[in-house]
Amino acid sequence: MPASVDPQRLKLNGDDEVTGVLIGFRCLDCRVKVFGQATFCQSCASSNLEPVEFSDSGILFSYTIIRVPPAGWPGPVPYILGEIALPEGPHVLAEVIGIRESDLNIGMHMELTIQSVKVTGSDQEKAAYKWRPSNTELSEEKANQ
Ligand SMILES: [Zn+2]
Repeated sequence: MPASVDPQRLKLNGDDEVTGVLIGFRCLDCRVKVFGQATFCQSCASSNLEPVEFSDSGILFSYTIIRVPPAGWPGPVPYILGEIALPEGPHVLAEVIGIRESDLNIGMHMELTIQSVKVTGSDQEKAAYKWRPSNTELSEEKANQ
């Protein structure tokens, strides 16, 4: 089983199958939630934080097509980088898979998927989080065809 590509953002479940959950912190003073590592609240500067787990689905807030990937990018290029708004508030940037750019609609429902990716220059694999259209979106599309 591969390790998390970013253990401070993606906590893997210890099963055979690669599953996991996005994690972050909640401010106990102002209730703001932060995706990923935080030592103090970005909103009120309190250090009174507790770890939280986020939903595995959200809404497509924005996206862009990446033609020049970051160094070591293991996937195909170009790819879609989506900004997904979680119901808890934070926005999460990750690759969008399973849909063509022309089929993307701002506001559509997306769900988290955990994928094994090859680490460039080694035989290692890591578990990365990505977004794909949720099943409800896909079945709606089928119904419209
Ligand atoms: Zn706060």
